[in-house]
Amino acid sequence: MNTLYTGDILQGKKVISCLNTEDLENGTTHELYFQTEGQNITGQHYYVPVSVVKGSQTGPRIVLTAGLHANEMNPYPTVNDIKSKLDPKTLKGTVLIVHQYNISGLIANIREFVPSGPVKVHENINRQASTPERETAGQLYCSSMWEKLVSKNADWAVDYHTANPTTFPLFAYSNMSLPKVATMTNLFGVDVVLNSHTSTTLSGSFTDMGIPAFTLEVGARDIYEGELVERSVQGTLNFLRYLKMIPGDVIDFPPAIFTNEWVLIRSEFGACVKAMVKLMDTVKKDDVLYLQYDAFGNKIKEYLSPHDGVIVQINQCPIVESGTMIAALVYHNKDKAIDADLEIGGVGPKVKS
Ligand SMILES: [Zn+2]
Repeated sequence: MNTLYTGDILQGKKVISCLNTEDLENGTTHELYFQTEGQNITGQHYYVPVSVVKGSQTGPRIVLTAGLHANEMNPYPTVNDIKSKLDPKTLKGTVLIVHQYNISGLIANIREFVPSGPVKVHENINRQASTPERETAGQLYCSSMWEKLVSKNADWAVDYHTANPTTFPLFAYSNMSLPKVATMTNLFGVDVVLNSHTSTTLSGSFTDMGIPAFTLEVGARDIYEGELVERSVQGTLNFLRYLKMIPGDVIDFPPAIFTNEWVLIRSEFGACVKAMVKLMDTVKKDDVLYLQYDAFGNKIKEYLSPHDGVIVQINQCPIVESGTMIAALVYHNKDKAIDADLEIGGVGPKVKS
């Protein structure tokens, strides 16, 4: 597989339809547009901005991705800041940064891939990241991103997200039964790790082919959280130091809170809710998490914690409908094996590959 240049120049950047970072000149940063397969309703392709920081010396190949879930905003400045701190003249190895993975979703400010045509069935890229199906517009998009951009250029990978639409601390979805994944996760200094695995996610697709990867959640969806962005940047740089791609001492962060169970609390009724807990609160079973009021302001329900645990997601909107996720609680089930069924976590329904 060689890098294929289409011959087009878009906003001053060369356009590629396939990438092999080994083909690119060493000791420089390459800014390219990747042309995805399929065309939108205008007859044009989507073009994904990618940077390849190609070190002057050989070393590991790292893939960093932002924006699979397009309206999760903190990953965009995170990967940009990481790029600004990398010097290809001294870097050992290659860092491929996908700045905006899901262009149609980003234009629409929606989490999923958004078809431009009249059939408005949005597709969750992070539940079909490596799909071999090539029927819908979203599948064509996903399979070309996976096959021709990211999967063949990675020895390690990190996929940056945020909570959607709630809040997260610095949180990792990591398959901790895989030693290399556990090692890389610990280098990021996250607050909480959920031992989990979903084959249809981008990070799960990588680990299924033996490439260590995990999903890093950087706070809330559309609020710039500078402290969490900076911690994500520093965690990534720490990881690169561990791999000896950049100089410096590896920071030994305090261990994250290890969890392996995930519980969603959903609103039973419509109208107002009031949180009685904050992000990262430690709660006991039967602690009051939320109060709910009807449309007239009368209190109608107390939501109690179903288990001892840590609050990792909080609904920010004071008004909800039935079924809205208002909080997520995680905890460590000591009776559960490290490699037990790990299809847990996340807001959406799980789809097994
Ligand atoms: Zn996401």
